[in-house]
Amino acid sequence: MTPEECIFCKIHKGLIDSEILYSDDNCFVIRDISPRAPVHLLVIPVLHITRLVDVNIQDAHILGGMLKVASVMAIRENIVESGYRLVVNQGENAGQVVPHLHLHILGAKPLAAMG
Ligand code: AMP
Ligand code: ZN
Repeated sequence: MTPEECIFCKIHKGLIDSEILYSDDNCFVIRDISPRAPVHLLVIPVLHITRLVDVNIQDAHILGGMLKVASVMAIRENIVESGYRLVVNQGENAGQVVPHLHLHILGAKPLAAMG
């Protein structure tokens, strides 16, 4: 999928309507359109990267930036003390639907234990 066809790239360019909750040079944050928890945000890199394995070493700082922004959003959404989960789905078996890397932030309810 090219950036021209990508839903998250279209949102970043303003071609699809979505409230941008946070934005910087590296990444931006929107609410998931189909929330699986009362707080369900997506931290999305501006760069159209499909998977973590596609991140070049010179772009690796973007990943740290996404984690930092997730912390900022957790504070803003008041879920730090109650707890939250960060999820990055990678590929078919993980159920990755949108082929543009993104970090889910899920919180404001007890989440099912993993494993
Ligand atoms: P994943 O399964 O990890 O690829 O997650 C993709 C997520 O993007 C899903 O949770 C969708 O609900 C969400 N999503 C798809 N389209 C939009 C949109 N236009 N705005 C916000 N979230 C979206
Ligand atoms: Zn994209």
